Amino acid sequence: MIDFHCHLDLYPDALALLPQVSARNLFTLVVTTSPRAFLATSRVFAGHSRIHVGLGLHPEVAAAKVGEVDQLVALVKGAPIVGEIGLDGSPRFRATLPTQRRIFSAVIAECEAQGGRVMSIHSRGAESEVLDVLEKHPRAGVAVLHWFSGTKKELQRAIELGAWFSVGPAMLRGLKGRQLAARMPSSRVLPETDGPFAQDSGRPLMPWQAWSVCPTLAAAWGLTADAVQEEMLVNLRRLLPTVPTA
Ligand code: MN
Repeated sequence: MIDFHCHLDLYPDALALLPQVSARNLFTLVVTTSPRAFLATSRVFAGHSRIHVGLGLHPEVAAAKVGEVDQLVALVKGAPIVGEIGLDGSPRFRATLPTQRRIFSAVIAECEAQGGRVMSIHSRGAESEVLDVLEKHPRAGVAVLHWFSGTKKELQRAIELGAWFSVGPAMLRGLKGRQLAARMPSSRVLPETDGPFAQDSGRPLMPWQAWSVCPTLAAAWGLTADAVQEEMLVNLRRLLPTVPTA
């Protein structure tokens, strides 16, 4: 199974979880919230070939971490996967949008300068603006919009711009999330958990629980759960051809 967006470094018992995550998941993308966290997590998680660490600077911590923006840009060259990056326009984080914009534009421009990256992108409350930035940088790579919660119109625009989507159990619990997922092209969707932030019955979702989206997506798309599972694997191989997924 695949978890294309989790914060494995932020579980209280992260190190103890690594062997189980490696055994149960073919592919886990650990997105990080700052360049320093990326370096530390890459070091500590090294040696687990099925666990991949993304280079990120999370928009929720933009104000605290803006001093790391040069480091973020410098590290893009050696990082095949970038995330978590993006913009958050929700009431709690709206005040830092000017700083968030500076960071997001800088990292997207560098992804483009380096020939493109696979990017895990946060867009809550700033969906149109994230799409504006992606539109301005058409060679930045493949944007995988994580837990997309925009309008149907914004979803349509994202699809037209070539975006992919990562979809988790928490997103699919709500009717809106299920309606958006139903409109996503199945060939551009991957499972995620967003754990430990996303939870199920008050407990953090574990990286191997991402696969539980398959029956819900199957119902939304008129496919069998087996067909959805197979398609998710095919999607991953298409997105990251050099990553071993056997
Ligand atoms: Mn996240």
